[in-house]
Amino acid sequence: SFGPNIFVESQWQPFKAAIDEQLSKTWTATPIINGQAVSSDTAGEQILDKQHSIRAPWNHQVIAGDVQYANTDIARQAIDAAVAGQANWQAVPASKRAEILRKIADLYEENYAELMTLCQVEAGKTTQDSIDEIKEAVDFCRFYADEAERLDIKVHEFIDLAGKQSRQVYKARGTFVCISPWNFPLAIYTGQIVAALAAGNTVVAKPAEQTSLIAHFGAQLMYQAGVPVEALQFVTGAGEVGAALTAADNLAGVIFTGSTQTAQRINQSLNDHPQSNGELPVLIAETGGQNAMIVDSTALPEQVVKDAVLSAFGSAGQRCSACRILCVQEEVADGIIELLQGSMAELIVGNPTYVTTDVGPVIDKDAKKVLEAHIARMQAEPTATILAQTPMSASSAVNEEDSTFVLPTVIEVQSIDVIGGEHFGPILHVLRYQARHLDQLIDAINGTGFGLTLGIHSRIENIVEHIERRAVVGNTYVNRNQIGAVVNVQPFGGCGLSGTGPKAGGPHYVARLMQLTTEQTST
Ligand code: GLU
Repeated sequence: SFGPNIFVESQWQPFKAAIDEQLSKTWTATPIINGQAVSSDTAGEQILDKQHSIRAPWNHQVIAGDVQYANTDIARQAIDAAVAGQANWQAVPASKRAEILRKIADLYEENYAELMTLCQVEAGKTTQDSIDEIKEAVDFCRFYADEAERLDIKVHEFIDLAGKQSRQVYKARGTFVCISPWNFPLAIYTGQIVAALAAGNTVVAKPAEQTSLIAHFGAQLMYQAGVPVEALQFVTGAGEVGAALTAADNLAGVIFTGSTQTAQRINQSLNDHPQSNGELPVLIAETGGQNAMIVDSTALPEQVVKDAVLSAFGSAGQRCSACRILCVQEEVADGIIELLQGSMAELIVGNPTYVTTDVGPVIDKDAKKVLEAHIARMQAEPTATILAQTPMSASSAVNEEDSTFVLPTVIEVQSIDVIGGEHFGPILHVLRYQARHLDQLIDAINGTGFGLTLGIHSRIENIVEHIERRAVVGNTYVNRNQIGAVVNVQPFGGCGLSGTGPKAGGPHYVARLMQLTTEQTST
């Protein structure tokens, strides 16, 4: 398992009781324009696209929630409302914006039971992942609140020969569309929105359709915290709605987390839709990864296996930071593989609402199909070998037929090429390398085009530094796991096919959402 369970049964009970109470609720999500829920009652069926019932990923049963999708017409209304709200929101003092953001953090903490429940029933997250999710969302609110205040200064003052003064100041840019993924349905969703709001920009938020309920609940808490209704417009729906939003005129920018292909399409669309003054909208994209962990012969084997298993199978491998390729120096490979097989046998795969579960389901049936097809292709591949596959836990109590579990699988491969891109789930590849070919290995990892996370396990400082210098990657982690970047501790984001930067949770993020102006003072 991922380690000693942090919960003592008696401590867990009240927590669990609070969550159970939530399960009887009925959840809904509708678009929200200027504070008004747009539902089929208010808008008539013709302007909503369709209704979508939410199914729990671990048994695919309908849970008490339904989502009404916006159509492209509603998407346009949302943009118009946010653009119209821009002047008022940017006039709100930074200290007030920060206060509202801090209030969102407080409300998230107070409403943890609802948020935990939604993380579990809608996204299939384990208890630990759900707790981490809420913590990260709260961290984003508080950190970007601090950033709003930090950037609200005269960045530089200048003085000319005649004694006239100029200063540089940060200003809001305008309306941002925030398109967030289902794998961090609260944390990334919230991080994008509050960063844009911190900058004084208005927002049209379009969360992933798979996790509309938690996003809708989060939006309600944001309004409750004091976010003006014109500053945040909320739009449900799938890809067509996102495409309509990013093809709107007059956007200052888009913040997107999701696939590389979608990011490329958004980039194209933004190029085709400059602002009225001709300026191209800003694109901040966080996309996929083909992340490796490099392990040399000086690494501590037990530590390597613990960190690799958590990095590859935590969140059922559904993190863009997840370890996909464990690269082990030949001399120690057999020993590490043996330990890895032992550790895989210990993983508990099953119902994510059980507190001891390590690996829950993947998000939906489509994801399961794609991942299982990759495992089948590797099974048929003569140069690949399945080293381990963890069965469902005996007490998992799920209907396997109808569920979306993918069994955690370890596959030995002879080259990175044979893997064929990113597989977003609980699949870890193992590759042996020879010490004298270390540079070729790093080049091959760079050669995937992705550059998100890299784990390094070695006790030789020179080797660690050498790998870090040669690798083209956003975040490196040494002698630890390579997931779970903490806000303002490991600013997170990749390069190449993995994203545009600036790093989320770091000191350049909110600044990127703002415009620097040099203005002359009147004296
Ligand atoms: N920030 C997350 C982490 O460090 C990953 C974000 C993502 O998967 O998009 O694990």
